[in-house]
Amino acid sequence: MRKYVIIGVPGSGKSTQATTLAVDLDLVHISVGDIFRWQVQNHTKMGAQVRRIMAAGELVGDDLAEKVAADRLAEHDWNYGFVVDGFPRNARQAEFFLESYDIDGVIHLDMPDSEVRRRVLARRLCANCGVDYNLIQSRPATEGVCDVCGGNLITREDDTEEALVVRLREYHDKTDPVLDLFRRKEYVAVIDATASKEEIQQEIRDKLGLPPYKP
Ligand code: ADP
Repeated sequence: MRKYVIIGVPGSGKSTQATTLAVDLDLVHISVGDIFRWQVQNHTKMGAQVRRIMAAGELVGDDLAEKVAADRLAEHDWNYGFVVDGFPRNARQAEFFLESYDIDGVIHLDMPDSEVRRRVLARRLCANCGVDYNLIQSRPATEGVCDVCGGNLITREDDTEEALVVRLREYHDKTDPVLDLFRRKEYVAVIDATASKEEIQQEIRDKLGLPPYKP
């Protein structure tokens, strides 16, 4: 059983790296942000509750975030383990999480704030299948169209200049202390998130003592 948490500033590649790790090692990738986005896209009651908060770049309330994370983990579909992405995001959520789960490691994707803006503002997402593009590194073959499914490429509602300022502030105010807490428990593997996708994945494998990555 392998249980990991992945933490990093917006645009640091958490979802890309967590997905690769999960697919390859048969782990379940649990993204709290994706769950909230699904709720918004599908116009659920919860979606209505969180939409404006998310679009502004603020954190959803702890009670709700904790419930979403706990309910998802309680599905117990993770026979070989999980990678949790986007949780815990503050000290209270970290305590809540550690009360129920012991973890094997925390992957900290380390990236300077100066790189965040460039990346996040260039990010596009397929509205249909969710694949991620970046107008700097991984451009779609046809502008605005998904290479995989032909769906429309859109910008995340919180990938704006204004929301990004708030997201970064929230991250440093609230999530930096989570990293301090995990660091004291000696869980944290610091990974240089400015390298290529493949190099980052390999460094994660090396630092966590996992089988090598074969792209
Ligand atoms: P980011 O790229 O900023 O790390 P995510 O996709 O992980 O984005 O999360 C998007 C948004 O979802 C956050 O800005 C926040 O509003 C909400 N969210 C996700 N996880 C949590 C959480 N653990 N606690 C509170 N809000 C959360």
